Amino acid sequence: MRRVLSVASECAPLVKTGGLADVVGALPTALAAEGVQMRVLLPGYPAVTAGLGDARAVMAIDDLFGGPAQILSGQAAGLDLLVIEAPHLYARPGNPYLGPDGRDWADNPERFAALSWVAARIAADGVEGWRPQVLHGHDWQAGFMTEYLRRVNAGDVRTVMTIHNIAFTGPADPWRLNALRLDPARFHSEGYEYWGAISALKAGLIGADILTTVSPTYAEELTTPEFGMGMDGLIRHRRTDLRGILNGIDTDAWDPTADPAITPFKTGAGKRANKAALRAEMGLPEAEGPLCVIVSRMTHQKGLDLMLEALPALRAIGGQLALLGSGDPALEAAFRDAAAHDPDIAVRIGYDEAMSHRMIAGGDAILVPSRFEPCGLTQMYGLRYGTIPVVALTGGLADTVINASPAALAVRAATGIQFAPVTTDALSGALIRLGQLWQQPKVWARMQRNAMMQPVGWGESARAYAALYAELGAKA
Ligand code: ADP
Repeated sequence: MRRVLSVASECAPLVKTGGLADVVGALPTALAAEGVQMRVLLPGYPAVTAGLGDARAVMAIDDLFGGPAQILSGQAAGLDLLVIEAPHLYARPGNPYLGPDGRDWADNPERFAALSWVAARIAADGVEGWRPQVLHGHDWQAGFMTEYLRRVNAGDVRTVMTIHNIAFTGPADPWRLNALRLDPARFHSEGYEYWGAISALKAGLIGADILTTVSPTYAEELTTPEFGMGMDGLIRHRRTDLRGILNGIDTDAWDPTADPAITPFKTGAGKRANKAALRAEMGLPEAEGPLCVIVSRMTHQKGLDLMLEALPALRAIGGQLALLGSGDPALEAAFRDAAAHDPDIAVRIGYDEAMSHRMIAGGDAILVPSRFEPCGLTQMYGLRYGTIPVVALTGGLADTVINASPAALAVRAATGIQFAPVTTDALSGALIRLGQLWQQPKVWARMQRNAMMQPVGWGESARAYAALYAELGAKA
């Protein structure tokens, strides 16, 4: 068994703010089938330590960025976890990154530097006689692990850094250099300096042996100024080390035939009860047109402002909208306002896992108009539940949906609708096309069947990660 330590700031089902947690939580099981033993290193937020079963202390650290820490080894939700118990850093309620005022905790650079620090210690010393062969870090929170590896004797441990979203660069002011235990000689443009600040993500991107991101199209996009967020030069430089490996979804948690949150169904036609239930729950009237759903963080990235502007097109095809999400207060208010003025629009502000299942099961179509989308998961949930995805042609949305072009319809391969560029006009056009397909029940049913049959699990991607670890091992 190849030994890999996954280093991450969130992990479903214990702590989740987005798709990153789903991926970190799913990989160990998917990889076990490929001969990889993956343990996950996590910060000990209250939600994580509470979920940990019989844990034992396997390492003690006197001073982990301002206080003592213990590393606990235990199991939760079928995962093999190493948890950093460091109350001075992590014993805070709520969101892993934000304080009660909705702002980043001021010491976030140190809180996640600590995560990387412990990863390097485990790489060097092992725990319980177990030493990883590969450290696999996720996003900026794990970025400094390669810097810290330079200071320990970790022998032949190799590193992989996965970019789930390059928009989060993990910035810190230069005066923190010492506090972050970084080598000041490496604070320059070829090092971890980024526009005058320290960037944890950049540290990972320059230091890791292999870089991956979560879809082939996003890998290409990252090399361009439009999507690379100032890191595109570096990414171009490392292009041969960058792989795009598509995320899968948890096909057990998202199984329309056995989902405890819904009325289970086998075919697209079987959605009826769920659609009726969703309409009732959201207070939407019966309607002839398609019921469109959105489950999303409400941020600029997700293009929901475009959706507000495209509502006339949605209403022109007789469509309804049900949205579940939270985020930017201005967007929340604008959607609430739209719902207040139109009985065919319903909005729930909040985060609700069970409800997200009812939304996807009850919808006819799921809308994902993101300006950029490294992979995206909800369009894949949609595919699996016969809920036709209408998506921007970007990132993983480009790689997971087969657009209902004339060619794809002719060979009966279409699974959804894609639009480009990401503008109100193009989104409106996509909604008009949705209405036209909706008017052709046979074509619609065929798309639903195709969608529900499309593989969206981890199988192929787990094999790709396992092959990557094996390749790194061979080079060691
Ligand atoms: P991102 O990671 O950028 O937020 P993804 O599509 O990769 O986008 O993953 C989002 C995940 O979070 C999905 O599992 C989605 O179902 C879930 N999600 C987002 N918003 C909500 C919400 N308001 N309630 C429940 N689940 C949500």
